Amino acid sequence: MNCLSTIQEIFHPLFHRYQIQVFVKRDDDIHPIISGNKWRKLKFNLKHIEETPSIKGALSFGGSYSNHIHAFAFACYQHKIPCVGVIRGEENYANNYTLTWAKHWGMKLHFVDRKTYRRRHDADYIAELQNQYPNYYIVPEGGSNKLAIPGVAEVITELNQQVEFDTLLTPVGSGGTLAGLITGDCDIKKQHKILGVAVLKGAEYLKDEVNNLLPKHAKSHSSWQLLTDYHRGGYAKFSLEDSQKIIAFNKTTGVNFEPVYSGKMILALLDLLEEGYFKAGERIVLLHTGGLQGLGGMIERGILTKSDWPTIQPVTDISISGD
Ligand SMILES: *Cc1c(COP(=O)(O)O)cnc(C)c1O
Repeated sequence: MNCLSTIQEIFHPLFHRYQIQVFVKRDDDIHPIISGNKWRKLKFNLKHIEETPSIKGALSFGGSYSNHIHAFAFACYQHKIPCVGVIRGEENYANNYTLTWAKHWGMKLHFVDRKTYRRRHDADYIAELQNQYPNYYIVPEGGSNKLAIPGVAEVITELNQQVEFDTLLTPVGSGGTLAGLITGDCDIKKQHKILGVAVLKGAEYLKDEVNNLLPKHAKSHSSWQLLTDYHRGGYAKFSLEDSQKIIAFNKTTGVNFEPVYSGKMILALLDLLEEGYFKAGERIVLLHTGGLQGLGGMIERGILTKSDWPTIQPVTDISISGD
């Protein structure tokens, strides 16, 4: 099996001090613009759409800076599938960094207010949308459905060929990625410890979400854990100190992590190390889920300063679309 992404060892004085080895699975490198786990989660969804002639298009949900919407728009463009994004927000968001790209790839933006967006899992609202977009295949927010699982599970198949390790860390948003990793880990001989770092507050409910996404045979996996105390204040929240820590880590290791998802995994790793969580000699893999496009929007909104993230260059020239 060909590996979609490479594995890379990274070095840091703390790794040396605690005598651990750390590797990064570079899913951020899967595609120059679309990166990471969204790509993996969409793989079998796209296959299903292509193999089902009655499906005429695809629809999904997201916030106005959503990595999922960004990836979904590009994936549909590439597979020539008409697509709709149900976006939480107003029309004037349509020109932001993320949605400009989505439009560029042909996504029809369907804006809804917060109240309507909250109904995104309700059967009656889904039926309404299905009426409005007949024969469209509806993918939930974040792309985390049953078909996302086998795509993410391939990370483990690849790792199995690439590196020996004890523990795998991943950031967690909706739980689809974590569920996919657990599933993949059940299909190989030796099981690993799989640690999910929740990037949002009050994430205890995600344990059930992950369990619900697991196919039967994967429910027996006994060494996964969701860490819910490393969210740094909530989704997309982080302190100046947090972002400076991530920037310093990026400089030391030469790999770029952003503060919403992958960077929170890094902050958790550093905290866990100081807490003595890892044993000397342990080999740890970090899944770099990508998400660097999100920096474009954060720089646009003044939340981050471009010069602080010198090695990250958001693609701003839409005409050189990298497609
Ligand atoms: C969506 C996303 C995640 C979270 O994945 P889930 O499957 O929703 O838990 C992690 N990292 C990045 C970069 C993402 O875009």
